[in-house]
Amino acid sequence: MTNIAFIGLGNMGGPMAANLVKAGHSVTGFDLSPASCDQARGDGVGIAASTVEAVRDAEIVVTMLPAGRHVLSVWTDIIPSVKEGALLIDCSTVDVESARKAHGLAGERGLQSLDAPVSGGVAGAKGATLTFMAGGAKAAFDRAEPILSKMGRRVVHCGEAGAGQAAKICNNMILGISMIGVAEAFVLGEKLGLSHQALFDVASTSSGQCWALMNHCPVPELVPTSAANNGYKPGFAAALMLKDLKLAQQAALASGASTPLGAEAAQLFGLFAGSGHEGDDYSGIINFIRGRTE
Ligand code: NAD
Repeated sequence: MTNIAFIGLGNMGGPMAANLVKAGHSVTGFDLSPASCDQARGDGVGIAASTVEAVRDAEIVVTMLPAGRHVLSVWTDIIPSVKEGALLIDCSTVDVESARKAHGLAGERGLQSLDAPVSGGVAGAKGATLTFMAGGAKAAFDRAEPILSKMGRRVVHCGEAGAGQAAKICNNMILGISMIGVAEAFVLGEKLGLSHQALFDVASTSSGQCWALMNHCPVPELVPTSAANNGYKPGFAAALMLKDLKLAQQAALASGASTPLGAEAAQLFGLFAGSGHEGDDYSGIINFIRGRTE
């Protein structure tokens, strides 16, 4: 059993912390939202009065927060109070620069740290089937791996500080671009009088096959796991896809990488989300594309 502190008990963090409890760890959590704290308490997470109180006895601290500024602020607050030798793991999706700054803060106190964002969404968090993409020293990864594997199915060491965030935004840029490609193909097919089933039967067994088509097909009744079957209820909300695409563009700009399709995808998801659909599943972008078709 390990003493674990868990900061950020929202849609993802709540069920992740609950899975650590189920695995037999002692978990003390904190969230600014009383409702999230109540839910986590019901799942066996001990609730502390503050972030600093939550981390006091922890050997491992996990944060699952909205964005880089929240992570840097929480890590700045807790680092002076964590035990000597504690390992800090940030599972939030944040920009690569903030991730590296967070590692720097931990390093100033001689603490091990890992950026370990996830893929798999709320269903993956509940079912402990997330994929973790980790960045940081090998020794930190080796120590974190048995804990992360209680919340996920795959734990990949991607490289040094920030490499987990880099892998996450590159992966989600592929997903955002490929979803738009799949949606455009179905809209074009409709215009050409092609049935959804016929296009799916061909593309799913041909060179057009991709994860977006096979798992999140944007038209209903072809794929059981598709949000299109459920009125585009997420799933993976358009707002989160937009967040990840913006992070990819920020990183592309900072590193000088040319990502024209990534830029276009960020713009299209921005228009889609900004037209009142930020809470829809990202595959709902097909309706936005259809709406722009004459
Ligand atoms: P969420 O908004 O449900 O949860 C974030 C929680 O952090 C909230 O409960 C909020 O009250 C809490 N919080 C904010 N500042 C805090 C502070 N200073 N101290 C304590 N608690 C604080 O968001 P989520 O869906 O759980 O996402 C968390 C992270 O995971 C984000 O970075 C997101 O991009 C990433 N992510 C989400 C999904 C998804 O499908 N929801 C999938 C993959 C990755």
